[in-house]
Parts: sequence; C-alpha cells; structure tokens
Amino acid sequence: MENDRYYGIDVGGTTVKIGLVENGVLLDKWSVPTDISDGGKNILPDIMRSLPGPAAGAALAVPGAVLPDGTVNRCVNLGWGVCRPSEEFTALTGIPCRVQNDANAAALAEQRLGGGKGFESILFVALGTGVGAGVVLDGTIRNGARGAAGELGHLCLDPRDTAAACTCGHYGCVEQYASATGISRLAAQAGFPGMTSKQIVDAAAAGDAALEDVVDRACDALGRGIAGACAIIDPEAVVLGGGVAQAGDYFRLKVQAAFDRYCFHACLGTEIRLATLGSDAGMLGSALYAMG
Ligand SMILES: [Zn+2]
Repeated sequence: MENDRYYGIDVGGTTVKIGLVENGVLLDKWSVPTDISDGGKNILPDIMRSLPGPAAGAALAVPGAVLPDGTVNRCVNLGWGVCRPSEEFTALTGIPCRVQNDANAAALAEQRLGGGKGFESILFVALGTGVGAGVVLDGTIRNGARGAAGELGHLCLDPRDTAAACTCGHYGCVEQYASATGISRLAAQAGFPGMTSKQIVDAAAAGDAALEDVVDRACDALGRGIAGACAIIDPEAVVLGGGVAQAGDYFRLKVQAAFDRYCFHACLGTEIRLATLGSDAGMLGSALYAMG
C-alpha cells in the first residue's frame, strides 16, 4: 500500500536510478536518462512521469552540497544552481520529498545494508572520477553546517602550486592522487600514459613493479587522507566504494597499510572494508533516507 511505499531516487549526471521500496523490501528498480539541457529543468518532470503511483515519501540523492534545510548549493553535473528540488518534486507529484548528497546517501546504505553493516558509525569513501565521501555517525548522516561534511576528496595533501591543480581551485587534494583520474595521471607521469585506473591496478596486481609503485602512491595519499578524517570523527570502520575499490583486497590492504602508517595511534584497529552494494548504494540510501 502507498502508506508503506517509498521512492529512492539517485540523480546522476547521465542516469537517474529509481527504486521502489514497499514494507522495507526493494520491489522494483529502473532508470531514466538525465536530461541536463535547459539548466536541468526537465529532470524532475522526467522522473515524475516514470513513477508508477503515489507513495508515502521519496528522497533525491544529488551530486552536490546539500544544506541541512534541504537547499542544494549547486549541482554542476545536472546544470542546477542553488535550488530546492524537494519542494519542486512535491509540487509535481504530491509526494513528500527529502534531498541528500549522493555520497552521503550511499554511506547510509552501506552502513545499514552493505560493507558497514553491524557498525553505527562509518566513513564511506567513493573512488570514481572524483573522490566522494559520506559520514554516518550513530546511524545518522552528517551533512555539516554547510553541506561539506565528508569532503575528503578536497583535503589538501600538498598545497604547493607544483602539485596537481584540483577542480576546486586548490592544489594537491586527495582527489588528485586517489580518484580514477588521479591514478591515471600518476601513471602518465611515471611513463604510462593513456591507461585507465582499472588497467593500472590490474597490471600492478599481476606483478608490474612500476605500476605497483603508482598504485602505492595513490593508496598512500588515500590512507593519509583517511587517517586525517579519522582523527576528527573516529568512526568504527571505513568503507571503500566506487569503481577503483572493485579491485578488491589488493587495493584495500594497501589503503589499510597506509592508514596504519599515518593514523593517530588511538585510531589503530580501524578497519578499512569494501563496499558491497555497488552502483545501487545511492538509490538504496535515498530510499532509507526517505523512510526517515
Ligand atoms: Zn580539491
């Protein structure tokens, strides 16, 4: 019945993933293309037309900073400026709606159902084109005062202007070393241009010593960034997700070793784990967030 029905909606730059949860069970999932033309104004109407019916609630997961009052502070990938998409969604559908950052939604799903199951407090790190992260403390997503909590990708490791320039305008952010793009850049600098991060990590795992050096540098940077974050929030576990983390234990153990090298001694024992929900995490997390 619609009283127990919720929509989890992960609005990505190319695809919107939608899940229908009834009585706590994922009944169906589908996707619609993201139309970013005209400042992304078709995105919500396109979602609305794909919904099979009314529901008790919905939540949108978006790739941008979300303030505690639900205001979205720009989603460049969607063409959105400062806006309040949950209100527009409710006006279109009549369904109460919340909005959350996509990495934060994924963090909630991994904490409740995935790699962080059994823990109340986790740091979730998504390694993709960029490095996203989400913080769940005592079972609750923490957005921070300005929606910037968990912006691990932009923790600065090397502020000198000789370091890699970041999309945020600074230099030497974690993202410039540990994202898929960052790993490819490190490999190009080492004389291996044009390789994807998956090719690099696979070759390193198969025994290529020069590429293993590249992966070690990426994991060293990531472990250092995670150690800094853990000195502040001290989660029970860290969960690695995103495409790069699909390299599995080979990658995870290198990040764990780097974390153990750099962390404050009291943080030793913090487990680095792998995410288990894959690309459904954002959609599942928004459904959980919709349920409150
Ligand atoms: Zn940055």
